[in-house]
Amino acid sequence: MNFDVLIIGAGPIGSSLACKLSSFGLKVALADKKTTIGKQACSGLFSRRITKYFDLEDDMIENVVEGAIFHTKSCDFEVRKGKPEALVVDRLKFDRFILKKAADSGAHTFFGARLISHVRADDSIRACIDTPKGPKEIAAKLIVGADGAASMVRQVFSLRGDLRYVNGILSYYPMKNTSPLVELYYSPGTAPGFFAWKIPRGNRTEFGLATDIRHNHLEYFRRFLKKFNLKLSGFHAHPICFGKQQSAAERVLLVGDAAAQVKPFSGGGIIYGMICVDIAAKAISYAFDKDDFTGEFLKKHYDDKWKQKLMPKIELGLGIRNTLDSLNDRELDTFFGMLNEQKGAIESLGDMDFL
Ligand SMILES: Cc1cc2nc3c(=O)[nH]c(=O)nc-3n(C[C@H](O)[C@H](O)[C@H](O)COP(=O)(O)OP(=O)(O)OC[C@H]3O[C@@H](n4cnc5c(N)ncnc54)[C@H](O)[C@@H]3O)c2cc1C
Repeated sequence: MNFDVLIIGAGPIGSSLACKLSSFGLKVALADKKTTIGKQACSGLFSRRITKYFDLEDDMIENVVEGAIFHTKSCDFEVRKGKPEALVVDRLKFDRFILKKAADSGAHTFFGARLISHVRADDSIRACIDTPKGPKEIAAKLIVGADGAASMVRQVFSLRGDLRYVNGILSYYPMKNTSPLVELYYSPGTAPGFFAWKIPRGNRTEFGLATDIRHNHLEYFRRFLKKFNLKLSGFHAHPICFGKQQSAAERVLLVGDAAAQVKPFSGGGIIYGMICVDIAAKAISYAFDKDDFTGEFLKKHYDDKWKQKLMPKIELGLGIRNTLDSLNDRELDTFFGMLNEQKGAIESLGDMDFL
C-alpha cells in the first residue's frame, strides 16, 4: 500500500498531525500497536492553551483548576491565579476525540499495527507493520515517529539524543474532589528525581508520582498512598522522557514525546507536542511542494524551527529539574520558601507551560 506519510503512533500528537496532513490533501496512514486507543497513564492536566487547538466537549473536562499547592517536608506554598489556569481532562476521551477527527479528515487508520522493520528505497521508505491479519508493507515518502517516550522509530532510524527517563504511575480513587488546586509533593523520600501529586478530578481524586528510573516507582507509590490511608489497587504506569533529541533525518521526523517535546519541570508533553504538530505540518507540506525529503531540508524547516521556539524553555526546565533533584528536604524547604517570597510575581507572571 502506498501513502504520502506514514505516522507511527495514534496518540494525541500522531492523530493531530494525521488530521492536519489529511486536511491538506495528503494520503496519510496512521498506525498504532494498540487495538484500543487511549492512554490511561496521564493526568490530562492541560493549561487553557489547549483550547486554542481543540473545542473540547464538556464531558471531557472533569475539573478546572486555578493553581497549585507545593508541599515540601516543612513548607506549603500556594500559587493561585484567581482565574481558571488549567483543565483536568479525561485522557481516554481526549485521545479518541482527536483520533476521530483524524479519521474524519481522511487518514487511513491501522490498529494492532506495530512497526517491525523498514527498508529505504530511492523515493520512499518501505515499512513492515505487524497487524492482526499478518505483516503488511506500507510505502511512504515520509515516516513520522509519534510513538511516545519509548519511540521505536527514534531507535530504528538511529536518531541521536541526550534523554533522561522517569517512570510515572497513577491511580484514581472514588473520592469526590472539586478543589481548584492541584497538590504537588517534593521530597527525595517521596518521589526521588521527580515529584508526587494529588489531582482533584470532580467525581474522583487522582494520586500519582514519578521517580528516576533507578528507583522502584511502585514501592514509592505504595508508600505515598499510605500517607492518605489508601491501598494500591489498579494503577497505570508509563515512562516520561525529557532532554534534547534529534527529530529529523532523511524521510524521517519525530514529534511529541518521541522527540522529547516535553516540559522537564512537570513532564507535561501535550502543549509542546501540539505546538510542534503545527510546525511539523507546515514543514511536511513544504517538503511535498518542493519534493525535498532530505535530512537538511527537514532539519531546517522542522527541527531548527521548533527548537528555536521551545529549546530555551526546555533548557530552563532542565536547569530547574537538576537543581530540585540535587536538594535534600531542608534545602527544598528553603528553595520553596524563597519562591513563596516571590508569590505575587509568580501569580501574575507565571505560565505553567513556559514557567
Ligand atoms: C503518569 C503520567 C502523567 C502525565 N500527565 C500529564 C499531564 O497532566 N499533562 C500533560 O501535558 N502531559 C502529561 N503526561 C505526558 C503525556 O502523557 C505525553 O506527553 C503525551 O501522551 C504525549 O503524546 P504522544 O502522542 O507523543 O505519545 P503517546 O500518548 O505516548 O502515544 C504514542 C502512541 O504510539 C503507540 N506506539 C508506541 N510504539 C509503537 C510502535 N512500535 N508501533 C505502533 N504504535 C506504537 C502507542 O500505542 C501510543 O498510542 C503524563 C505522562 C505520564 C506517564
